[in-house]
Amino acid sequence: MIKFCSLYSGSSGNAIFLSAGKTKVLIDAGLSGKKITEALVSIGEKPTELSAILVSHEHSDHVRGAGIVSRKYDVPIYANENTWAAMEKQIGPINVKNKMYFNTGKEFEIGNVLVNPFPIPHDAAEPVGFNFFVDNNKITTATDIGHMNRDLLECIEGSDVLLIESNHDIEMLKVGPYPWHLKKRILGDRGHLSNEMAGKVVAHLAEKGTRCFFLGHLSQENNFPELAYETVRNILKEKNIDIERDIRLSVALRDRVGQVVEI
Ligand SMILES: [Zn+2]
Ligand SMILES: [Zn+2]
Repeated sequence: MIKFCSLYSGSSGNAIFLSAGKTKVLIDAGLSGKKITEALVSIGEKPTELSAILVSHEHSDHVRGAGIVSRKYDVPIYANENTWAAMEKQIGPINVKNKMYFNTGKEFEIGNVLVNPFPIPHDAAEPVGFNFFVDNNKITTATDIGHMNRDLLECIEGSDVLLIESNHDIEMLKVGPYPWHLKKRILGDRGHLSNEMAGKVVAHLAEKGTRCFFLGHLSQENNFPELAYETVRNILKEKNIDIERDIRLSVALRDRVGQVVEI
């Protein structure tokens, strides 16, 4: 059985749990060790049983608790070389045996899970999204995406479960409190994905067969869950895709452990 759950998702901190049998992984660890531990326990999981922490990129909302969890529970951290170099100071000393490297674009195994780290356009050292293959299932996490392109779309197509970024409402961001340089960064090619773009991606993938979607990495200042959901729902409606009838769509929240999906 595969178990998938967004523990926390948003600009304030990210951690996603995925397990397949005895293989249990955390995708990013961007909250305090205490919060991550509590969230795992709340879904019936023990942090001591984690097989790995996979790091998408070095921004603090993805790595804040990685060092703590690794040291406290003796868990290996997996990241590519440039991300390791960029995050090492932030996460503190890691036991040599728990420092694991992967190459972007090259599949590797953790227990019975095949992992494919694919490149994403974002302003970090070497940011990635992840595909997880277990038996005939494909599960994908892709947040912190500046824009969608052909290569990226190919990586996420055919997923059974997809957690995709739905970071901001463009109008809210434009009129919101952020300074101009920050607005420009978020809207830029290596920033974050808007609700509208997320909607287009969800519609495209739904047409190709994906049935379970999570909208994630919502901005605290430039979005709110109902708006992200409604924006995506309206785009789906235009394409004649009905949320109740055809797919499952939920919002992965910033401050609450999400629904557990079991396949
Ligand atoms: Zn982030
Ligand atoms: Zn980021």
